[in-house]
Amino acid sequence: MIKELLFHAKLCLDCHEEWTKSKGLCKDCLEKIEYIYGRNRILSDVDCVFPFYYGGEIKNLLIRYKFRNESYLYRVFTELLYAYIKDYRENWDEIITVPYTDKKAAKRGYEPVTIIGKELSRKLKIDFSLSSRKSRETEDQHFLNAEERIENVKDAFYCNPKVKGKRILLLDDIMTSGATLRELSETLLKAGAKTVDCLVIASEKREEKGYWIRHEEEI
Ligand SMILES: [Zn+2]
Repeated sequence: MIKELLFHAKLCLDCHEEWTKSKGLCKDCLEKIEYIYGRNRILSDVDCVFPFYYGGEIKNLLIRYKFRNESYLYRVFTELLYAYIKDYRENWDEIITVPYTDKKAAKRGYEPVTIIGKELSRKLKIDFSLSSRKSRETEDQHFLNAEERIENVKDAFYCNPKVKGKRILLLDDIMTSGATLRELSETLLKAGAKTVDCLVIASEKREEKGYWIRHEEEI
């Protein structure tokens, strides 16, 4: 315990046993994580890319980060996403994260995706923007079916007109139906964004009619 307190910054953020210098994870824990090159088409001109499926070690880490108050894990996700997209940074002017409802943010005490978005923007040297807001409270998508999810987020966002002409990287944590990313991407494009590309940490493997067209290829 004392070792952990004194040297926490250098201990692996996952197992807290092994030492690590850079990525926040030790070699053994990194080996448990398998990158894929996933891509879901969510609109005719908007794709969502993702480095992981939602399962295994990534799922464990996301649950710990989002629901067990292990907020320091933002470093792990930032490093993993950074390694995944750093060679493509020229494609974007701004990073925007999917906004939380005030109710949800207040309940948790922190906004997991916003923290990662800000840190990722610092590392990539791309502006972070709070240009998007919820225009009304929405229900947690988790408990809704596909049709209800679409209805739940319909017209739920508004964007600052400053997005006009910008190439946006829209970040979220997990993609399930894609309804939220689709709705927000449409809102951003209607507000004049030049392009929107979505990035999530992990995508559900589930594929249902009308959800998305999946094909995996290099981003
Ligand atoms: Zn480890």
